[in-house]
Amino acid sequence: KLPNGKETEDTMRPHESEQPADAVARLRAFFRTGATKPLAWRTGRLRALRAMLTERGEDFAEALHADLGKSRAEAYRTEIDFTVREIDHTLEHLQEWLRPEPAAVPDRLGADASAWTVLDPLGVVLVIAPWNYPAQLLLAPVVGALAAGNCVVAKPSELAPATSAALARYLPEYLDARAVAVVEGGVAETTALLEQRFDHIFYTGNGAVGRIVMTAAARHLTPVTLELGGKSPVFVDRGTDVRTVAARLAAGKFLNAGQTCVAPDYVLTDPETARALEPALAEAVGALYGADPAASGEYGRIVNTRHFDRLTALLASGRVVVGGGHDRAAKYIAPTVLAGVRPDSPVMREEIFGPILPIVEVPGLDEAIDFVNERDKPLALYAFTEADTTRRRLAEETSSGGLGFGLPLAHLTVPELPFGGVGESGMGRYHGRYSIETFSHRKAVLDKPLAA
Ligand code: NAD
Repeated sequence: KLPNGKETEDTMRPHESEQPADAVARLRAFFRTGATKPLAWRTGRLRALRAMLTERGEDFAEALHADLGKSRAEAYRTEIDFTVREIDHTLEHLQEWLRPEPAAVPDRLGADASAWTVLDPLGVVLVIAPWNYPAQLLLAPVVGALAAGNCVVAKPSELAPATSAALARYLPEYLDARAVAVVEGGVAETTALLEQRFDHIFYTGNGAVGRIVMTAAARHLTPVTLELGGKSPVFVDRGTDVRTVAARLAAGKFLNAGQTCVAPDYVLTDPETARALEPALAEAVGALYGADPAASGEYGRIVNTRHFDRLTALLASGRVVVGGGHDRAAKYIAPTVLAGVRPDSPVMREEIFGPILPIVEVPGLDEAIDFVNERDKPLALYAFTEADTTRRRLAEETSSGGLGFGLPLAHLTVPELPFGGVGESGMGRYHGRYSIETFSHRKAVLDKPLAA
């Protein structure tokens, strides 16, 4: 095996040397044949993708370990099995989602007129994925794109090279290579891709590149879905059971070493609760990863030294009450909690995207709501509270991509819920039926019979 996970140079993929323009033209020609439209073609591709994940699951788990130190269990839970569940949910409901939806017709058009909507596939779509869940965040949109009857160009993240290589190897093998192309590479390759005309671009990553993607899409009037990030706050109410809060908070925050787009970014709570949370979080981290998380097979690593250096520079933003240890050679940063963090400190100025949890003290709910509303709309907002009024006020008085009470991250695993951001955290949504809407055009149809 070569270091990048490819077996040898001679296992050339069928379209490896293809230029982006040629790949798009080839897929577009195939789309025009109408072959991707029948339900049977779509469900066939989903079953093939499912087979890829079950038959090659170990290869993907190994790749994810190589890229991010993900444990096998975590790789299955958050990427491989996650995508299988998305496929199964789609297979179960696709026929029903694709059914034309009748629309009421006003009397003035006559009693014989009827109207309905149908979902048309868009054509050739581009999916650009990030490195943090490099399999799930490429494949889950691909599930929706294929289920909606499109051809797909998939661009995995170059920062997760082993997973990118596995996707480039297996996707064309399992899927119809006439309908799916994988283009590996970084900025240069993505820039070349973005010059092409797509019918939709689905981008997951940071907002700076999101702007580049949207600008490129504008030239072709191509619609975009932008799944971005930002700082997702957690409000912890007075009087909550801090042991339960800490256990759930730590599990959500330190999963994938904090490199999760919907990870709790920081905690807002009153000073008294903050004091009680500190030891509870220490205990929770111990329960998850033992006394030395570096020795735990369950704890991940930072993706690269650039992010490692960025993160360790943030450790000075507060008083370290849990963790703080790090090892550059191993790209290891301990699960860390910082107390007494000021709102204007460096750790509060950017999305952390790593295993550092700052606690910012506020007098109460009013100030927490103001704190959230004074900043960019987050991808997720979480709260731990026993009070219905607190729940209602947070729901009504704040805006975020998703809202989670009592359990971080879990909303995105509910297949019936849309997943997406608002404002700086993105635009558009996907998962389940929302993916089908994203990757289709809902066409209005009116039928007025000629004969009276
Ligand atoms: P990344 O660096 O892997 O970039 C994402 C993709 O953009 C890659 O495929 C990369 O090749 C491409 N890219 C990078 N620079 C480019 C350029 N100049 N022009 C064109 N394409 C370019 O991932 P990242 O952005 O570091 O990912 C982390 C960010 O993504 C965080 O902000 C996180 O919150 C966000 N995120 C959001 C979600 C979500 O579902 N909303 C999920 C995961 C991550």
